[in-house]
Amino acid sequence: MAPWGLELVRVGAVAPALLRRLRGDLAVCLAHPVWIADFELSPAEAFSEERRQYSASRLLAMLQEPPLEGAHRRIGVTDVDLFLPVFAHVLGSAQLKGRVGVASVHRLRPEFEGDRADPQIMRLRILKEVLHELGHTFNLVHCQVPWCAMSASLLPEHVDLKDPSYCEPCSEIMGVPRDGILSFFLKGDQP
Ligand SMILES: [Zn+2]
Ligand SMILES: [Zn+2]
Repeated sequence: MAPWGLELVRVGAVAPALLRRLRGDLAVCLAHPVWIADFELSPAEAFSEERRQYSASRLLAMLQEPPLEGAHRRIGVTDVDLFLPVFAHVLGSAQLKGRVGVASVHRLRPEFEGDRADPQIMRLRILKEVLHELGHTFNLVHCQVPWCAMSASLLPEHVDLKDPSYCEPCSEIMGVPRDGILSFFLKGDQP
């Protein structure tokens, strides 16, 4: 497999500290280079007046530019509520066998459902959501292994049931170590 890394793009008003921590967590779980892009995107252009949400497809198109080098991937991290035409909302979206994906913290915040804010829950949820969208860019479809990051999730509660790692067949396709979750819990609190 060609060497690859993951570029994170800040899309809208995502807290810089959240993005920095996410970058570190992803680097530990993936054992591939992960960096924050030197540009940011505004989601304004993807806003739908009709839905009062933001089009995930439009954001994916916007994230194609500038072109990525080599086999690198790019995931936009946003705070706005995303939709796809057939879904009331999505937590994220990605191009199957493509290069780019987008993940939203909007519905992942415990506060969204009236619960108390919890940075640790938030941290794990967005990590798993980015791992999920990243897997789609490697042409992975939804996995039947319930704890695998590639298992489907429309609700944050589903995200909570997964691990921040991939099952063996999924990790093999992506070329990432199976012990992502172990590395995360061993080194996760280091800066
Ligand atoms: Zn999916
Ligand atoms: Zn899997």
